[in-house]
Amino acid sequence: MERYDYIIVGSGIAGLYAALLAREHGSVLVLTKGSIDDCNTRWAQGGIAAPIGAEDSAQRHLDDTIAAGAGLVDPEAARVLAEEAADRIDDLVRFGVPFDTLHGEIALAREGAHSLPRILHAGGDSTGAHMELTLSSLAQQSNITVLEFTLATEILLQPRAAVGATFRSPTSPAHPERSPHHSERSEESVGATFRSPASPAHPEPVEGRVRGVRALDERSGRSTDYACRHLVLATGGAGQLYRVTTNPDVATGNGIALAYRAGAEIMDMEFFQFHPTALKLPGVQPFLISEAVRGEGGLLIDVNGARFMPEYDDRAELAPRDIVARAILDRMQKTGADHVLLDVTGLDQARVIARFPQIYRFCLDQGLDITRRPIPVSPAAHYTMGGIRTNVWGETNIPGLYACGECACTAVHGANRLASNSLLETVIFAKRVVQRTIEAPPDSVGAEPTADAIDLSEAAPAETPSPSRQAVQSLMWDQVGIVRDGDSLSRAKATLSAWHAALPKPTDRPAHELTDLVACGRLVTEAALIREESRGAHFRSDFPQPHEEWRRHIVFRKGA
Ligand SMILES: Cc1cc2nc3c(=O)[nH]c(=O)nc-3n(C[C@H](O)[C@H](O)[C@H](O)COP(=O)(O)OP(=O)(O)OC[C@H]3O[C@@H](n4cnc5c(N)ncnc54)[C@H](O)[C@@H]3O)c2cc1C
Repeated sequence: MERYDYIIVGSGIAGLYAALLAREHGSVLVLTKGSIDDCNTRWAQGGIAAPIGAEDSAQRHLDDTIAAGAGLVDPEAARVLAEEAADRIDDLVRFGVPFDTLHGEIALAREGAHSLPRILHAGGDSTGAHMELTLSSLAQQSNITVLEFTLATEILLQPRAAVGATFRSPTSPAHPERSPHHSERSEESVGATFRSPASPAHPEPVEGRVRGVRALDERSGRSTDYACRHLVLATGGAGQLYRVTTNPDVATGNGIALAYRAGAEIMDMEFFQFHPTALKLPGVQPFLISEAVRGEGGLLIDVNGARFMPEYDDRAELAPRDIVARAILDRMQKTGADHVLLDVTGLDQARVIARFPQIYRFCLDQGLDITRRPIPVSPAAHYTMGGIRTNVWGETNIPGLYACGECACTAVHGANRLASNSLLETVIFAKRVVQRTIEAPPDSVGAEPTADAIDLSEAAPAETPSPSRQAVQSLMWDQVGIVRDGDSLSRAKATLSAWHAALPKPTDRPAHELTDLVACGRLVTEAALIREESRGAHFRSDFPQPHEEWRRHIVFRKGA
């Protein structure tokens, strides 16, 4: 079996950034199921948040992040995010990401629910593409082994000695001492040398510890097992769960499903962010019209030409995404239209074209000049707030298994992600994963398991054919969408459970993706059904208010 110090699954910004740091400390294999640049990252438009402006501070960024998260942000994770942001931006600049500048300084834009301008961008609205291209070309020129079109299908664990064995090594204390760095701000940044690992090259096997990963080479159809000391999942989100989504085809939640099956904890899956403004034109993909367009002064009007956001929230177009998405949905229902309009015709034309070249060009290709006509938009599934539960070091409850980026859940976004915090999150926690791998003791047991984790309900075998991806997406959009209720969720739960039982053992990439989408759909639906309140991105019409007793996370663990 081929052996690596690090295997990183995923080649978006989280995976590539982790790989570029990890190569300093051992051999690195990156597995990615498409071509290297096929990921959510390359579609990111608006930018990456960081409190680097003269008026700004980590405290203000932290306050905004916590306010957006509707009571469920982990304050420690958000503090790490805000305090380490400037250092990670320095790293990205050193790696060569060409952030836009104004008068020789990095230019900062404003986006919804940020109290002041703090969004760095590149190529106007092509931030993600610039980041992805910069990091992927560095990775390809380095000593990192990258296997494209190779899908991770199973996490391999050291066999457990006995039924009922816990996640802990038998020699570890029940409540292991945290690293001395666990709750302190790291003093080290990229460029500083890491402390050399005290751990031996091949640590003693710990039962239940990760030993590698199984992967399917899509081109040959062959499955291969790879061994590693550290397995890092950086597999992105699950936007493909929904019929209308800004996410590309690869966003099928594989890593979350793989991790769940291996016994990792999955948290906050009911919080799925719907972006308020995706292009709505017949026969055209729901291309994202960035939040930054509203940040620059774009106004939302209904099909009768009336501006409506001030009726819904004092912050009007700059209210948090969930509020704007529901307001648009409400307005669409009231006017009987399938869209509203985002109007930038009152803004300076040259500025619109310079600031949003990608959006301008894409719309123009569809016959729409956005400087002359308002843009038809409607909400679309956009971002997976939940995912593989980790601590602030990217550790899961399985020793040796780490997660970072959109597939992970530190609860840094709580119930609602603040715009442009996700690109930031990827680099903050990818860096911490690598730091942890070289600082943690060899018998490190990972994150403390959650006491009240729950298992998914038993799959109910039923006489039903296995579904298509489109059927799953339609069910999720219609019954587990922007507005949910107990009846629709119960029906969706029963259908997904029957589909889960009906799915054959997957043998190729489409079948694996479908299996994993159904698994993620079950996690989203069951969590949404359990949470009998409305909070952040999770809105239940039968429980429209938040309730204090629900200020807690819903965590799933197989076999819990
Ligand atoms: C249209 C759009 C615009 C956005 N705009 C912004 C923005 O302006 N600012 C912001 O902060 N965020 C934005 N986001 C969100 C942000 O882009 C993502 O959260 C972030 O890029 C996620 O990075 P990642 O590395 O975690 O995942 P991704 O970039 O999605 O990468 C995941 C990788 O994992 C691979 N993979 C998945 N499963 C497997 C498997 N089983 N085996 C092998 N490989 C696998 C995929 O092929 C891919 O390479 C936007 C997202 C979209 C879709």
